[in-house]
Amino acid sequence: MKHTYLMTPGPSPLAGPVKEALAKDIIHHRTDEFKKILQEAHQGLKYVFSTDNPVLILACSGTGAMEASVSNLLSRNDKALVIVGGKFGQRWKDICSSYGVETVCMEINWGTSPDPKEIERILNDSPDIKAVYTTLCETSTATVYDIKAIASITRDRDVLLIVDAISGLGQDVLKTDEWGVDVVVSGSQKGLMLPPGLSFISLNRKAEVALATSNLAKYYFSLKKALKSYQNDDTPYTPSVSLVVALNESLKIIKEDGLENRWKEFQKIAQATQDALKELGFSIFSKSPSFSVTAAAIEGIDTQAIVKKMRKEYGISIAGGQDALKGKIIRIAHMGYINSQDVIMCLSILEKVLADLGASIEIGSSLKAFQEAYYG
Ligand SMILES: *Cc1c(COP(=O)(O)O)cnc(C)c1O
Repeated sequence: MKHTYLMTPGPSPLAGPVKEALAKDIIHHRTDEFKKILQEAHQGLKYVFSTDNPVLILACSGTGAMEASVSNLLSRNDKALVIVGGKFGQRWKDICSSYGVETVCMEINWGTSPDPKEIERILNDSPDIKAVYTTLCETSTATVYDIKAIASITRDRDVLLIVDAISGLGQDVLKTDEWGVDVVVSGSQKGLMLPPGLSFISLNRKAEVALATSNLAKYYFSLKKALKSYQNDDTPYTPSVSLVVALNESLKIIKEDGLENRWKEFQKIAQATQDALKELGFSIFSKSPSFSVTAAAIEGIDTQAIVKKMRKEYGISIAGGQDALKGKIIRIAHMGYINSQDVIMCLSILEKVLADLGASIEIGSSLKAFQEAYYG
């Protein structure tokens, strides 16, 4: 009897009540019944996004909302600062380039977080920059960025701050309104415990003003249209009805746990995961490790073989490295519905796989390290 476990930074496992909601009959979306469901979702999203501003729901994966935040906020020949310290920072650059937006690219070493002072210097040097595109958790390197410090630079300037929180939302601390972040983008299949297929985008007043003047091409992803429908708890096109019904279940779980409690819990799990991996001879890849996912490197063992063996022989999916980090790291997610017990189970199989691959490790050592850190 084989169980399978998802320990990857997207998709991540579905919460129980989410699965039950997904099995329900579909209802029509232009009804009072669905309007109430959407209203509940809109309220719940504000809580998880830590904002009083609208959070729009789009029927696409996270990248759709990233694209919308470029095509709806900027105009042809506008200039944007993008922070590239991994695969998803690179995606911001690619989207901007696709729309003819000029990018000033702040390249940082993978696994490090950007120096806010450097961002300030770039904005001082180029006052024509209209927007800063960055990432809460750069999933490819498991690195959290200091969004609070970056927002303190952008909030009083004539520049928008757009944060990709697709993987970080729910685990890594993000205080959208308090810090003055203008736009936050996220997706359904990471911290929100849902299948892939929904993305979200919050817009403050400054961002709403920018919608009015943007002249880049858009149709399906018109946020002006989406915002107009939103005011009526409606959507411009057919929403992903079942996913929205299921979303309300995951929002309920997060509300019941309390967002701040979840931040603390994932911080504890992340710290314990780092301790456990170090015990097995790994080094933690990031200089600024995220609470959502942990990346670790090891000498003398093929990390792709670790990932493959865990999935094939034990049914446990962890992630390897992407792009430049392919074959160099493993990544273990602790987000959404993944809890401390799941990580303990994952570590125990990781130990077995390392031993199978010839590593000299002490069986049980990472479990001891995890529990000492987690239970204190
Ligand atoms: C997963 C992820 C994305 C991509 O989202 P899709 O849902 O695959 O479009 C973008 N940014 C970050 C930081 C991610 O972790």
